[in-house]
Amino acid sequence: MYDHTKHTKREENTLHFLRKKMGKRKSRAKPPPKKRMDKLDTVFSCPFCNHGTSVECRIDMKNLIGEAVCRICQESFSMTVNALSEPIDVYSEWIDECERVNTLDEDAAKDED
Ligand SMILES: [Zn+2]
Repeated sequence: MYDHTKHTKREENTLHFLRKKMGKRKSRAKPPPKKRMDKLDTVFSCPFCNHGTSVECRIDMKNLIGEAVCRICQESFSMTVNALSEPIDVYSEWIDECERVNTLDEDAAKDED
């Protein structure tokens, strides 16, 4: 007679083994929860090409230089920073600089009139 109990037991073992294997693979594919922290405000939208996430800000703490570079249009900006500066400080300084230049252009245009 067919031993149903034994067969089921073996199947259970196989399933258990597979589940264990799959579970392992799954946990390895999962991104570490740390990644959420890394995402913090180092990528910004570009004031030149208006691409939403093309500007990357970096801070060189060794030389105290902050740099913002657009990977789409290659526009870049650099400034001296201090130990407390953050990428967003470099970016907002770049935006300020752009606005200053725009204002100057407007003034120059007015003078020409
Ligand atoms: Zn750009």
